[in-house]
Amino acid sequence: MAVTDHVDLNGFMEGVKKRNPHQPEFVQAVQEVAEDIFEFMEDKEEYHSQQILRRIAEPDRVVSFRVCWEDDAGNIRVQRGWRVQNNNAIGPYKGGIRFHPSVTESVLKFLAFEQTFKNALTGLPMGGGKGGSNFNPKGKSVREIMRFCQSFMTELYRHIGADIDVPAGDIGVGGREIGFMFGQYKRITNNFTGVLTGKGLEWGGSLIRTEATGYGAVYFLENMLATKGENLEGKTAVISGSGNVATHAAEKIVQLGGKVLTLSDSGGFIHDPDGIDQEKIDWVKTHKTHRRGRIEEYVEAFPKATFHAGKTPWGVPCDVALPCATQNELLGEDAKTLVANGCRAVSEGANMPTDLDGVHTFKAAKILYAPGKASNAGGVAVSGLEMSQNSERRSWKEEELQQMLKDIMSGIHNSCIRYGDQGGGYIDYVKGANIAGFKKVADAMLAFGVV
Ligand code: GLU
Repeated sequence: MAVTDHVDLNGFMEGVKKRNPHQPEFVQAVQEVAEDIFEFMEDKEEYHSQQILRRIAEPDRVVSFRVCWEDDAGNIRVQRGWRVQNNNAIGPYKGGIRFHPSVTESVLKFLAFEQTFKNALTGLPMGGGKGGSNFNPKGKSVREIMRFCQSFMTELYRHIGADIDVPAGDIGVGGREIGFMFGQYKRITNNFTGVLTGKGLEWGGSLIRTEATGYGAVYFLENMLATKGENLEGKTAVISGSGNVATHAAEKIVQLGGKVLTLSDSGGFIHDPDGIDQEKIDWVKTHKTHRRGRIEEYVEAFPKATFHAGKTPWGVPCDVALPCATQNELLGEDAKTLVANGCRAVSEGANMPTDLDGVHTFKAAKILYAPGKASNAGGVAVSGLEMSQNSERRSWKEEELQQMLKDIMSGIHNSCIRYGDQGGGYIDYVKGANIAGFKKVADAMLAFGVV
């Protein structure tokens, strides 16, 4: 006779809060999922008795370690590094590494939790993990970044492996940092395997990995608009961020006939009423990625644009919005403003950019709203394809990969419809993504018993 009491959603969340004090981002991510999963589990005794959600919301392990490095002035610097291995029920842990001063254990636990559902949605065999450090790459020399990456990998290498845990990039970690980390991994282990993704094309990387997250978010947006018989032609788009995800989302919107009005960084946003075309996007890519400049300088290059210091772009009227910067950058009030201004669709390029208030606002307004775990899964999906190519020791052609990315995004969209169709033409994509991702991981966990 099972002794497990069925707690309700509130009771469950009380427990999560108690066990994870001072971890608001993690609690927020669990709450967003639990709201949908409790309803879904109502008549599914096994998920309850086997404590499946409780187990997914308790990372398999959190490794925390010291990272020391020497700056250019000869000072010894000490940072904290982490790898959160959340769940490997359906494949090796997989997820990016973030270097940003806002990184805490809470942030990485929320990201690893989200990643578990996202990776399941791609249909590829990948579990969920995330790592990173509170190291701030801004203002550091390339040699300082190299020394930091090497020191970080000198601990991380013992926890990862092509069939164990495969990290990749995220905020503050791009191709250059992956290169430094892969170099150090190879030096320590003497092992050339697909242990990291987002690698350079010459050493095992995959075509279209760089573009995949931003392009994928726009493919997902197109899928959503198609349910209303619409497309992006002639639509205005507001985008936040100006990094890899934002610039590639902008690029795909422009290719599909839309007009991009804004981009942003931590200093504020730029509004270009003429539209940010491919030439301007290329300028932003060079300026932000290679010169590490501020978005503010856009208005010097393109004087018709305006810069709005310290603000987010959600007040600019638009047809579609793509938050592509970071977590909790779109709050309840912003969501209300977007809806009031007639925004019809929101596709998240970042992870959890909308806070719980904002999510509830979009749901209540019944607009087309895709959570990051569905709409930004294109990046990790192509990482999964990079893993397959590495195992095969082959490189697939660009056209093949482009088609696979489109198919994966449509597949995720279909899964969201399957579990999120509320009737009357409204699809709750949050619910659809949460249930579809949960079900796959949960059923694998049931097969393994209590482990
Ligand atoms: N950091 C990306 C994400 O949030 C990509 C992870 C990966 O490629 O493993 O999904």
